[in-house]
Amino acid sequence: MPSHAIEIRGLQKTYPGGRQGPAKAALKGVDLDIPAGSIFGLLGPNGAGKSTLINILAGLVVKSAGSVRIWGFDQDVNPRQSRAAIGVMPQELNLDPFFTPRAALGVQAGLYGVPKARRQSDEILAMVGLSDKAEAYARTLSGGMRRRLLLAKALVHQPHVLVLDEPTAGVDIELRQMLWQNIRKLNEEGMTIILTTHYLEEAEEMCDEIAIIDQGSLVARDSTANLLGQLDARCLVVVPEQTPGLMPNLPGLDVSERDTGELALSYRGSVLTADAVLEAVRAAGIVIRDVRTEQANLEDVFLSLTGSH
Ligand code: ADP
Ligand code: MG
Repeated sequence: MPSHAIEIRGLQKTYPGGRQGPAKAALKGVDLDIPAGSIFGLLGPNGAGKSTLINILAGLVVKSAGSVRIWGFDQDVNPRQSRAAIGVMPQELNLDPFFTPRAALGVQAGLYGVPKARRQSDEILAMVGLSDKAEAYARTLSGGMRRRLLLAKALVHQPHVLVLDEPTAGVDIELRQMLWQNIRKLNEEGMTIILTTHYLEEAEEMCDEIAIIDQGSLVARDSTANLLGQLDARCLVVVPEQTPGLMPNLPGLDVSERDTGELALSYRGSVLTADAVLEAVRAAGIVIRDVRTEQANLEDVFLSLTGSH
């Protein structure tokens, strides 16, 4: 097993301009090593370049410059081996509506040259909970089932590295938990997992290490614990008993009043405690009817760290 599942050097991608707009530099020289055996999170706001990077790994987008090694195989030198080492569950639900799940897996296995004797369609369908839909047309499957079928397709050639692009965006809690269970199990069996998400909470729970990409450049790369220590945006939402006359005032506390009359209190966990924030609210003469915490997502964190875009 190589020590790095993925080695990326100087990776650039510029999408050519056209009717849709001018040329767009989506990746501006990314260096990134992803340890073998890890669950690795690639995070960043919308438009950061996450899908571009993943689609280059998958061989779906052609890079403009730089090099990519997958499981030790250079994409340009050993395209077949590097492609065989990686399976990708794409962000888009692009399934052929006329294939049943079993047929779709058969086609995929054929594409990757998996010999009939080594195919495990039934096991994979069972794993993602689609056994009883094996013969249903894809167009009759629910959104959640389609997503599970995409995961199944990514697994047919038993890749060393599994890449999931926003696997849980817009899926319900049940499916989300099922996906995470599957992903943990695959990782325990030795598969390296790379996923993108813009839910910080999810990354915190799942990933050993994280890279953050913003506007085509890597802005952070660390263990999850170290990174979350840095990215410590907090938000308390207070429902006041009456319209406040005075706003809470405390260094390091950012207060905004929402249309609903709620007060959103943003601060850094390393600077203030929730107790100090609530004390400042009371000191302003505000009677608290209700209070809740809001999970900061990565875009909030970027806002609090950079104050821009
Ligand atoms: P993310 O997945 O982080 O949201 P993307 O990789 O999808 O980001 O997009 C990065 C940037 O590249 C965005 O500005 C996006 O508009 C642009 N982009 C993505 N795909 C294309 C394409 N096929 N043609 C032109 N521009 C693109
Ligand atoms: Mg994307």
